[in-house]
Amino acid sequence: MAEETIFSKIIRKEIDADVVYQDDLVTAFRDINPRAPVHLLIIPNVLIPTVNDVEAEHELALGRMITVAKKLAKEEGVAEDGYRLIINCNSHGGQEVYHIHLHLLGGKPLGPIHIG
Ligand code: 5GP
Repeated sequence: MAEETIFSKIIRKEIDADVVYQDDLVTAFRDINPRAPVHLLIIPNVLIPTVNDVEAEHELALGRMITVAKKLAKEEGVAEDGYRLIINCNSHGGQEVYHIHLHLLGGKPLGPIHIG
């Protein structure tokens, strides 16, 4: 069994977070250390540590993460200008929290993808 992270506590409302959306499959909240004017994290309510742990049974929740990203991008006013969706995996990917999460970044030109 994978170990829970702080994100499980955010899902259960056991610690404070600026939650902007929640349903039966996913939760979305503002990143505590925003790297852009809009920086949301969209996560499945079930604990999937990394993309390497994804199974077919997770497809509904993972698909919902994208439809919620689309909805929130519109609500945050960044849909038209555009935004970036990122999932980091393991150490080389820069993953810090081992509960899979989709970053939604926008609100300014993000430039080319920065490596290293
Ligand atoms: P990663 O590097 O794993 O892809 O991204 C983890 C993200 O989670 C980081 O952008 C970090 O700022 C954010 N984060 C870490 N702990 C917390 C927290 O307790 N609350 C919120 N809202 N964001 C967090």
